[in-house]
Amino acid sequence: MNSVGEKHKQDFDSGTNNGTHINNINNEITVKKQKIEQTSLINNLKTGYCYDIKMRYHSKIYQSYYEYIDPHPEDPRRISRIYNKIKENNLLNDMSEIDIRPATNEEILKIHTNDLLTKIMSLEHKTPKELKELTNQSDSIYFNLESFKSAKLAAGGAIEACKSVVDGKTANSFAIIRPPGHHAEPDKPSGFCLFSNAAIAARHILDNYPNKVKKIVILDWDIHHGNGTHLAFEDNPNVLYISLHRFELNKFYPGTKLGDIDQVGKDAGEGFCCNITWPVGGINDVEYMYAFRKIVMPICEEFDPDFVIISSGFDAADGDVIGQCHVSPQCYGQMTHMMKSLANGNLTVLLEGGYNLNSISNSALEVAKVLMGEPPNPFINKKLSNGEIILPKAEVLRNLQKIIELQKKYWKCLRNDSHSIGTEDIGFIDINLVNPLVNILQEQRFNSLHKQYGMDEFPYIDIAVYKELKEYINKPLLVSGNVVDSEKCIILVHEEPKIYLPMDSTNAENSIDLINLKNSQVIDPSLKLIIWAQKHYYPIIDVTLPLVENGPLALAVMTSLWEDYLSSFPNVSKFSWISIGYNAYQQTAQMVSNIGTPEFRSKCGSLISFINHDSMTVNNLKSIHQNFSSNATVNLVDWHYSNSLLLLGIINNETIADSGTVAQPRLRKKYGRIIKCDCSGFGIAGLWELMEERWDECADFVLDGFDD
Ligand SMILES: [Zn+2]
Repeated sequence: MNSVGEKHKQDFDSGTNNGTHINNINNEITVKKQKIEQTSLINNLKTGYCYDIKMRYHSKIYQSYYEYIDPHPEDPRRISRIYNKIKENNLLNDMSEIDIRPATNEEILKIHTNDLLTKIMSLEHKTPKELKELTNQSDSIYFNLESFKSAKLAAGGAIEACKSVVDGKTANSFAIIRPPGHHAEPDKPSGFCLFSNAAIAARHILDNYPNKVKKIVILDWDIHHGNGTHLAFEDNPNVLYISLHRFELNKFYPGTKLGDIDQVGKDAGEGFCCNITWPVGGINDVEYMYAFRKIVMPICEEFDPDFVIISSGFDAADGDVIGQCHVSPQCYGQMTHMMKSLANGNLTVLLEGGYNLNSISNSALEVAKVLMGEPPNPFINKKLSNGEIILPKAEVLRNLQKIIELQKKYWKCLRNDSHSIGTEDIGFIDINLVNPLVNILQEQRFNSLHKQYGMDEFPYIDIAVYKELKEYINKPLLVSGNVVDSEKCIILVHEEPKIYLPMDSTNAENSIDLINLKNSQVIDPSLKLIIWAQKHYYPIIDVTLPLVENGPLALAVMTSLWEDYLSSFPNVSKFSWISIGYNAYQQTAQMVSNIGTPEFRSKCGSLISFINHDSMTVNNLKSIHQNFSSNATVNLVDWHYSNSLLLLGIINNETIADSGTVAQPRLRKKYGRIIKCDCSGFGIAGLWELMEERWDECADFVLDGFDD
């Protein structure tokens, strides 16, 4: 009998499936009949759930006071908050509880190696000291004496939740389980995950219900790529794995090549993995819905699964500081509704990540309601402030088009024009054509810095990220003085200069004269610093980031600046890293989280940032997390706190509270040392004002950092 994979390829090669054996057709008819029989029962069936408070016992052993006041994001309360939310909304009476049990070793070994199982099992016999050591050595995962038991319950809960649907005992089901599973690779636990719950459950169903369930879709909407699930089934044509996740040139966790769009599965499983990557953060409902309509649903319908598992991380939810996206609870409801349309509604939702306790419980509530039969609420497609329709970002649309191009080799449904994304969808005009002013300003800046201060283009080597940056900015990196031979230097990261354009309201009838050109100015707050550094003979590396939002590129450039240059300049003993503007701060914070190694810290004397209040995103400031493994005793957050200054311009406390639009960021340690400054100017003018007023005290901080 042909495997599904062979059939899939034949369809593509010949355009028909004439070669399929008649037995297959008979089998399919039998399966369809069974489905119809199930439908008649479905009205009497409830949505099932499984939950056990014992899964809360896996928790992080505190290693510092800081961890106590600011707990690890994979917080045991995640499951109880979701459970309580569903309970408080009186849904439990209309749901049926599924008995949970630990997964057996045999079930776990269907996905994981014996070596991994033995390691997790042995945790029960470790001393607290050994557990702490193991935690410190591992890739984003912690262990305690209860970890093995909790992880077995999570995997067993996943199996039972799926089984109850396939057995026809529940209409569909929701497994409120932790620790999550999708990062656990066959031979390695990682990313808060011990056992690969979704993979273990899918394997169990395929093995134990060979007639009922031949094909499973695993849809993973956690903001991270599910490397564990992907690996478990990458050569299996009977499991279609689709993951929507941030990728960003491999910089977003888990940061493996496996999450890239060209990783489509291998061998018999080629064409049965679909990575839908987000090239930037800040993804909204409209982008998820767009990807669902253009890619997820068409290929799921063509695959025609018998059973569907949603790996449901809620870390793309609005308010999640790790995911930094803006998916609403309603959007999760909409996506659940669409997935319910597959496989005759045979669907199980398994909890994965998601770290904002409010966001995850609100999102889970919407998912539960839709599972129980409520119609989904409308998702958010308009800006709250002005009612303007939100469109998918241009770079997201371009990336989705690339994914369609790669996947259409495997899916007929993607081969017609209605599935390609046209320019009318993108609505994007080449910035160089409409805005040559940017280039003119950039050129003017270079000329004047060259003439006055002898600044020149940075002599960088042939590295891809610099080439890419040059597509946006003609001379993105400048340098003054002899950086290589000097002991101290300054890294200055800022955006392209902006123009302050006062509108001429007295002449509003004549639209040509709307802008008061006489009072318009180019404002470049970085000049304040450049002049100061010149006076003190400190060399500067000046980095201009493009106005076009491209976080991954900015991050890659800054990372390369450290890894390929600064770290190997033999004489540089100290540098000061200064960022001006919101984007410059965000990428600097991310860079410090990624590469704040002891070597980086020993050379970095100070980190200073200037941000003005009117950044709409001031509530989404990136915090410092240690993303790299290090045995250093000094906590990165502590180091950053004592070596950083974040000058945050605000109007004044009263105005902020009244307007209600610009809330203050929580003044927490992991953002560094925040100094709130009175600042009445908006936008670039406000940043200029901030630099003018506060530079002197920052200069002292730079000098102190050099002296350490
Ligand atoms: Zn996640």
